[in-house]
Amino acid sequence: MLRERFGPVDTADRAHAPVVVAIDGPSGSGKSTVSRAVAARLGLSFLDTGAMYRAMTWWMLANDVDVDDPEAVAVACGKPVIVSGTDAVGPTITVDGKDVSGPIRGPEVTAQVSAVAAVPAVRARLVELQRGCAGVAERGIVAEGRDMGTVVFPDATVKVFLTASEEARAERRATELRAKGVDEATITAMAADLTRRDAADSSRKTAPLSQAVDAVLVDTSRLTLEQVIDRITALVEEQAGLSSV
Ligand code: C5P
Repeated sequence: MLRERFGPVDTADRAHAPVVVAIDGPSGSGKSTVSRAVAARLGLSFLDTGAMYRAMTWWMLANDVDVDDPEAVAVACGKPVIVSGTDAVGPTITVDGKDVSGPIRGPEVTAQVSAVAAVPAVRARLVELQRGCAGVAERGIVAEGRDMGTVVFPDATVKVFLTASEEARAERRATELRAKGVDEATITAMAADLTRRDAADSSRKTAPLSQAVDAVLVDTSRLTLEQVIDRITALVEEQAGLSSV
């Protein structure tokens, strides 16, 4: 069914089939900013699947579920109502009707999200929601995360794996945090957390972060944000037969 719905059937059909652009990569590769900008340029919806795992984690913490107990997490994960607004210009995320876009970026959620995301029942629930978002996107969707090209949308029209050297990713994150006035000790702690999270996301059993065999690898270490956005937009235009709006 997924294949019928999302798969590029033939060239003639492509112009009318909903386009799915799957963008995966580690933390700090620039995925979110790039995916959102590409979606806005091409008039596509945008889905930040990391925000969904963060929202699930936020709910677990708010409801005193022990996030280090995978069984407790699995039992509870059907309860929260998580809704992603997929407008590339102003994406939203709510849990049980509450806007959680701020709290899900906090250090508590960031420290615990990989443990929650490793629970298969959580993934099954969120993958269903993610496919649902793609199913209702009118022109198509840019979905970013860790397993978009490998698990959630194996037949995506375009697959990209964004990466950058560990130094480049840490440096970018530090620049962002400094601009927000965050102190150096916190920046160092957050860099260690990012490395730990990448290792956990890459080594988990269910849907680990990995490059799909048919994904285009883009190393952003030496590229500016604008260059990455241009490159991916051009790739989608070429492979999906879309043009900018
Ligand atoms: O992208 P972001 O850093 O916000 O993602 C937060 C966490 O959510 C990741 O570290 C990972 O554990 C999890 N995640 C995932 N699969 C996705 C997207 C995010 O496991 N598709």
